[in-house]
Amino acid sequence: MSVELISNQSALRKSVSEANELGKENEKLANLDSLTGLPNRRRFLTELGQRIADDTGGNESFSVGILDLDGFKPINDIYGHIAGDRLLGKVAERLSNSDRDLFVARLGGDEFGLILEGNLTDSEILSLGNFICSTVGVPFEMDGFTANVGGTIGIAKFPDSGRTEKQLFERSDYALYVAKECQKGTAVMFSEEHQAEINETTGILRELQGANFDEEFYVEYQFVVDSATGTPVGAEALARWTNPILGKVSPTDFIKNAEKSGIVNKITETLLKKTLSEVSHWPEDLFVSFNLSAHDIGSSHNIRRLTEIVRDSGFPPERLTFEITETSLLRDLNRAHDTLQMLKGLGSKIALDDFGTGYSSLSYVQALPIDKLKIDRSFLDKMETCQTSQAVIKTILELCENLKLDCIIEGVEKESQLSALQGIGSMHIQGYLFSKPMLGRDALTYLQMFPNEIHENHIPLVEPSVANW
Ligand code: C2E
Ligand code: CA
Ligand code: CA
Repeated sequence: MSVELISNQSALRKSVSEANELGKENEKLANLDSLTGLPNRRRFLTELGQRIADDTGGNESFSVGILDLDGFKPINDIYGHIAGDRLLGKVAERLSNSDRDLFVARLGGDEFGLILEGNLTDSEILSLGNFICSTVGVPFEMDGFTANVGGTIGIAKFPDSGRTEKQLFERSDYALYVAKECQKGTAVMFSEEHQAEINETTGILRELQGANFDEEFYVEYQFVVDSATGTPVGAEALARWTNPILGKVSPTDFIKNAEKSGIVNKITETLLKKTLSEVSHWPEDLFVSFNLSAHDIGSSHNIRRLTEIVRDSGFPPERLTFEITETSLLRDLNRAHDTLQMLKGLGSKIALDDFGTGYSSLSYVQALPIDKLKIDRSFLDKMETCQTSQAVIKTILELCENLKLDCIIEGVEKESQLSALQGIGSMHIQGYLFSKPMLGRDALTYLQMFPNEIHENHIPLVEPSVANW
């Protein structure tokens, strides 16, 4: 063999081995989170897949955890991204230094993926999860400040809560969402109840898509009365849905899902048309309140459709109040201002619903064209036992008087609540004590009990129902 050939072969071997080295290095980098040095999301999913593939149906098990930091964003905002990155590094260090049998990865942002090894019982898994949360909860000494963050974890156990990477990941993410909502700083395991919630939501979303709007959606009315006389002054229209498969679904559940799937506007339009047609013969001095969702007031196009429906109905727009909640205003205050002005332009009123449950209710009163406040029923729950709640109601009533706003107290259920309110003064109230939500025709029967009190005495006789013919 010539000297030249030998040297060519060795050069080739060298470059193949260099290429192999480079490949390994690239592979390592592709699986590593450069900020923390932990395995990244890709490697986390590979590890999960590996463990699932290794399962022989025996006793071996593991659980998947997703840890999300609580209070990380303010640190990033106040001390800057460099401090935020350093903090993530310190969290990673703490997690990987725990002496528990754990695989730790950074999934992205302030989210970490965990694999809790071994066939642990549910309570062992939860106590390990809570231990990890408390480890993260110990303050971090940073350059010049102390960072107080927390950790919340959602956990799904293999194989009980899922047999594929996707299922385990989605279910631990759902448990995390539940934990974040009501048990921040702790670990929550995916449970059968969570599965039932998901099934329900899936069912609602599916049935909403195929719903026959005109047949399935209708309205019930709950009267608002004068606290001194009990005479109705107006009524709130409340959405109802009875579906052939699901039966009666609560508005809190279906409105939320209709918003998610983008069909809430269609429901609003159907309900507004039905309401305006049903109340067209009601006595002229009763107002009618109608609830709008965030999606309705978030779009000028949708509001224009609603104003057309009001105009086409012939119902006097001055007798209509549109109720909006604080959460519906959160997304875009400027846009909300414009769309509310369009409704005001019709001559209708705007009420801020569930007043007092949010953080900035008062600033909305200042910033938006609001005519009415509806004080949330949580104030009434506390009123009998808590003097402060009584004082708060009194103060809100005074505030309304000063700002020339109408005011309605919601959720009056008991005589004792009524007399406590009567002690403060005269006001408009709404609650089960006077009227539960009822169908349009029952509302007419109800109104017949007040023939003299309601001005104009325009209550039509109730027609016999079809069933009576
Ligand atoms: P909301 O607007 O605060 O409506 C009042 C809710 O409190 C109604 O529940 C009503 O039945 C209930 N309520 C009234 N008086 C009492 C009482 O004395 N005690 C108790 N415990 N509850 C009382 P409902 O009908 O289940 O409606 C729930 C929520 O669904 C409404 O809360 C509103 O946010 C939403 N909603 C209802 N209809 C519509 C609608 O047409 N469009 C939109 N976007 N949301 C609607
Ligand atoms: Ca309302
Ligand atoms: Ca309310």
